[in-house]
Amino acid sequence: MSDLSPLDAAGVDAAVSDALAAFAAASTLDELKEARLAHTGDKAPLTLANRQIGGLEPSDKAAAGKAMGAARAAMGRALAVRTEELEAERDARVLVEEAVDVTLPTSRALVGARHPIETMQERMCDLFVSMGWEVAEGPEMEAEWFNFDALNFDPDHPAREMQDTFFIDPPSSGLLMRTHTSPVQVRAALERRDSLEEGRGIYVVCPGKTFRTDELDATHTPVFHQIEGLAIDRGLTMAHLKGTLDHFARALFGPDAITRLRPAFFPFTEPSAEMDLRCFVCGGDDAACRTCRGTGWIEWGGCGMTHPNVLRAAGIDPEKYTAFAFGMGIERTLMFRHNVTDMRDMVEGDVRFSQQFGMEI
Ligand SMILES: [Zn+2]
Repeated sequence: MSDLSPLDAAGVDAAVSDALAAFAAASTLDELKEARLAHTGDKAPLTLANRQIGGLEPSDKAAAGKAMGAARAAMGRALAVRTEELEAERDARVLVEEAVDVTLPTSRALVGARHPIETMQERMCDLFVSMGWEVAEGPEMEAEWFNFDALNFDPDHPAREMQDTFFIDPPSSGLLMRTHTSPVQVRAALERRDSLEEGRGIYVVCPGKTFRTDELDATHTPVFHQIEGLAIDRGLTMAHLKGTLDHFARALFGPDAITRLRPAFFPFTEPSAEMDLRCFVCGGDDAACRTCRGTGWIEWGGCGMTHPNVLRAAGIDPEKYTAFAFGMGIERTLMFRHNVTDMRDMVEGDVRFSQQFGMEI
């Protein structure tokens, strides 16, 4: 093969024909590359023949150069044409083979969603943090003293009965599952007494799980969530409590939300009040309203001025300081704010329930 002479016109034509046939026969870009290397590479007959031109008689150089130039030009054109054809074929094939049918069912696992109780709890806490309050948390398994005694419950108060409260074995342990978040108020006050001496007051919200021996049904659950607020300072009155609750209501239910207080009794506040929210659906104008059952008001929680005995239990002088407290159920707030009709939907953990609320934070 290396014997091909640049002056052998028939041989050069045959080599070019071989090359063009090989290019045409290549059915992929890889095959075309192999053909190109075989016919135009360093060891190809025409390449070797081209190198001989330098050694030819001067009279033969022009003819040989012309013949070789024509051969290379013919191969170059054929290569360019075939390359373009094969690239077009490849592009068309990729469009078909790598197409994605977006309507096919997917095996991808669904992402979860944050539970609305958690996002509601954060929303409530954020509001108070924005007013300079602190978020305080306490143990879910609590000393009976914090859960009842420090909160001015009589030793024979019915809430202490076994049928309402989960007590921890053995009974002599003095431990129970907290029945409300109020014990955190006492703990928070004990921990922050220095704030009062320094003139800063104590302003905390306490969110968390609470436990009672209820059967799970549409309106009850043995584990539920509360959020409580406690403010201790000099000169606090019911007016500060009412203003705080109205601000809280407007933040959750819109600028027209208002609250009203009705006299009530709780061991840990005096005076005590039930707190109602003006129906944010009908505004009290629809006797058939399902949200407020036509009453115009929705029971939201309890509140009052903290009982002097509770302040004393936390080592705070009720002659110097006054305090107000309020608390409400987070499940209950979600139920009427989002028209959730069955408590069990919030407990069962079906992600489709949570997804309705989106990923709001
Ligand atoms: Zn209503």
